[in-house]
Amino acid sequence: MAELTFFSGTMDSGKSTLALQLDFTLRSRGVEGRRYTKLDRNGDVISSRIGLAERAYPVPEDLDLFEDLASSVPISYAICDEAQFYTEVQIDQLALAVDVLGIDVYAFGILTDFTGRMFPGAKRLLEVADRRNELPVPARCWCGAKATHNARVERGQMVTSGTVVDPAATYHVLCRHHYRTRDLGKDAGSPTLEVHGTLTALHSSSEQQVQRT
Ligand SMILES: [Zn+2]
Repeated sequence: MAELTFFSGTMDSGKSTLALQLDFTLRSRGVEGRRYTKLDRNGDVISSRIGLAERAYPVPEDLDLFEDLASSVPISYAICDEAQFYTEVQIDQLALAVDVLGIDVYAFGILTDFTGRMFPGAKRLLEVADRRNELPVPARCWCGAKATHNARVERGQMVTSGTVVDPAATYHVLCRHHYRTRDLGKDAGSPTLEVHGTLTALHSSSEQQVQRT
């Protein structure tokens, strides 16, 4: 039976590395598959911070992933990186591909955005996946605790709202305590992560939720 498996983690927890390893393992056994990504920092590739990269198909909002996979048969699996950015409809299309086409889908993504709210795509994956896995090597906050939050940093300060697209946006991974206290620790001023600037624009709705509360 084919399955929809969701691997989640904060930024810098090795999601893309695992995605590429899984793809490599399957391909080396002669199994055909398809790779997708969206808003990867390096374009239409699945790229890992440890230096691995493979080309991948982009996932624009209007792409029907079920139809795309159906027209790619015979393939046995799909690797879906940056899946938090896919729409809820697209996640349902992946689930349909599992059930109707018998394709194993491995989705990789972050659960929450820089405001601490769940990405719609990640929420839908948690709702419909057959298996939910947390990445085994969690990123660490500067204090050494497990990082659970992705904090956006502007001019050395953590921000939790704002709708302006900032191509220079940088991110720190923090534990919940230091996210709440907005403490960037000794890492302040030397952000560890750089992410595509459109991340900000995509989540204006959740930013507004935060501002209301
Ligand atoms: Zn901490």
